Amino acid sequence: MYAIGIDVGGTNLAAGLVDETGALLCRAECPTCAERHQNEVLDDVAALTVQLAEQAGGLDEITALGLGLPGVVDVRRGELIFADNLGWQHVLIGEEMKKRLPLPVFAGNDANVAALAEARCGAGKGVESAVMLTLGTGIGGGIILNGKIYTGAHYVGGEIGHFILETNGRLCNCGVRGCFERYASATALILAGRKALSENPTGAIGRAAAGNPGEVTARLVVELAREGDRQATAIWEEYLHYLLTGMVSLVNLFDPEVFIIGGGVAAAGDFLLEPLRTRLPRMVSFTDADQARIELATLGNDAGIIGAAMLGL
Ligand SMILES: [Zn+2]
Repeated sequence: MYAIGIDVGGTNLAAGLVDETGALLCRAECPTCAERHQNEVLDDVAALTVQLAEQAGGLDEITALGLGLPGVVDVRRGELIFADNLGWQHVLIGEEMKKRLPLPVFAGNDANVAALAEARCGAGKGVESAVMLTLGTGIGGGIILNGKIYTGAHYVGGEIGHFILETNGRLCNCGVRGCFERYASATALILAGRKALSENPTGAIGRAAAGNPGEVTARLVVELAREGDRQATAIWEEYLHYLLTGMVSLVNLFDPEVFIIGGGVAAAGDFLLEPLRTRLPRMVSFTDADQARIELATLGNDAGIIGAAMLGL
């Protein structure tokens, strides 16, 4: 049994042939060119599907096509309600694809399907419940409950980056103040690093970035914290405090079997995992109960493709 999953990004269409175990057997890719009319992009989605199906012996061998879309998706109707990256609104993707392909078509939010893939066959390996946190430019991810993506009644649930951590806090791109991602994304580390540079240009951060705020990356801050630099350590400790505070709320709401941590900050590896694993159990209220595991995501960029395919498997 095979399905095809396509991660429809603002830059690329990344497609893969996936078997029922979640193994990615082969992949194909083409640029999205999102400025085109959506029909042209969907023609390319269909062409990639046909191209990959040939590897499995033809479209008859394919159970379904699954699409991961960068926006709010009505999963029951197969409708993309809106996607800022693509500039699309109210596109009936399921119907459009059925005009092009003789296959059942399923669609979901891209971050949510990546969480599904990690829960089923990545870091979670078959857990029933998981919360994935993708610590990147913002915080993406998803909530998996009873083995399924939790989307909410209006498909805007699971927006983990935007629960409010700090009242009257930092202004978020979403227009609200104090969102989790303003404090615990890679961007939060970068902005704190730049602030440290401007306050102390001759410090380790300033020297490593040659005085250029544009050179301050999350990786640089993490590396200097790892080396024990005082300014970088203070930034990293504040970062961990906010991340853990958010995770405590997520435990109280969902009590997942596992937290799966992905995104750029996850590259810190054990330097990130160890304090999370040590401190989270001390911060939650129900200390007598078993605790959520905390793991790094294992599927990388393939999670979006595999999770999209899993919608149809
Ligand atoms: Zn927000």
